[in-house]
Amino acid sequence: MTTDWKSIESKYYMPAVRRQPVVIVRGKGTRVWDQDGKEYLDFTAGWAVNNAGHANPVIADAIAEQARTLLQTSNQFYTVPQLQLAEILVENSCLDKVFICNSGAEANEGAVKLARKYGKMHLNGAYEVITAFNSFHGRTLAMTAATGQPHYQEPYQPIPIGFKHVDFNDVEALKAATTDRTAAVMLEPVQGEGGVNLPEPGYLEGVREWCDEKGMLLIFDEVQTGLGRLGTLFGYESFGVEPDVMTLAKGLGGGVPIGAFLAKEHASVFEPKGEHGSTFGGNALTCAAAFASTKYIIDNDLPGKALQMGEYLRNALEGIKERNDSVNDVRGMGLLLAVEFESEMAAGIYPACIDEGLLLGLLGPSAIRLMPPLTVDKAEIDLAVARLETGIKKAASS
Ligand SMILES: *Cc1c(COP(=O)(O)O)cnc(C)c1O
Repeated sequence: MTTDWKSIESKYYMPAVRRQPVVIVRGKGTRVWDQDGKEYLDFTAGWAVNNAGHANPVIADAIAEQARTLLQTSNQFYTVPQLQLAEILVENSCLDKVFICNSGAEANEGAVKLARKYGKMHLNGAYEVITAFNSFHGRTLAMTAATGQPHYQEPYQPIPIGFKHVDFNDVEALKAATTDRTAAVMLEPVQGEGGVNLPEPGYLEGVREWCDEKGMLLIFDEVQTGLGRLGTLFGYESFGVEPDVMTLAKGLGGGVPIGAFLAKEHASVFEPKGEHGSTFGGNALTCAAAFASTKYIIDNDLPGKALQMGEYLRNALEGIKERNDSVNDVRGMGLLLAVEFESEMAAGIYPACIDEGLLLGLLGPSAIRLMPPLTVDKAEIDLAVARLETGIKKAASS
């Protein structure tokens, strides 16, 4: 007999998230299983988190060994996993210094604090950060304000000041919104949660040039695009545009909660005077997991695999589009892909796919998001695409 976890949830858990009727108990690679033993292909990867696959043995061993050795110290002291992680991130990116925290929102908070201090030091007290409409930067109060989607802000008004929003892919709008109060521009190189929106050719270059002209910092929120998802270890490499500050989280820990923000030397302005810190930030356990995961991603060229498998998946999705009138658009990069449907069909397709054994992310009422582990293979993609097409047909006929 299985416990009725759904009624336990509705009795005890705050109803902030709409759940699907699936209790996931186990995972391996691209697959997960529910409490009845039903198998699913997980094309959410824990929201672009399990880049090296579920229950990756290399990461599991690193976690187990670290758990038996040292979990946590006070940040007054050095710990080895934290410094191994710092070294691998800096040595494999264009950034010079790192601070490790616990989530994406917290990484972005840290980046904005850096920008505000930078503004005080170098830009006559400028403090504003310009972000894009349809961006997503997290759920703390300040990151709710940074996120360019008013529906996330509305229940919490008044929200913190210091953020302005402009259209993505519009350098002129950015220029027009810039004032002597602007300290930084913060963008996702590819917008994830807000629609899987790609930058047009020249856009990120134009933003970079404008930031250089004004002496402002360019922050890339790579919480979703980092760690191989777009086909390069960090998303900025796919576009040849370097940020001054970059934030990471989702794919960083291989499944454990961790975030980080990195800065070039000139933007690394914190001083050890209590300006920033974190009890758990740089925790030995999460850093050991993140170091093992990052090393696995690099050693096994998962970015290269994401590029190859992304192309394979994209072609298969284009095939679905050709065969199904209800599919309007296929877009994305690497293994961050979206399928847009006619009208509000996604809400029906999504549960139909769960029935078929395929887990997806919803992207508003009319689109779905696919972001499998970067270890996904062709056979798994073929199976997932077949399940998706069945789900589409069932939703269309119901
Ligand atoms: C998910 C996400 C965040 C927030 O990360 P959390 O770990 O949920 O706080 C921030 N930025 C982007 C681009 C994201 O995709």
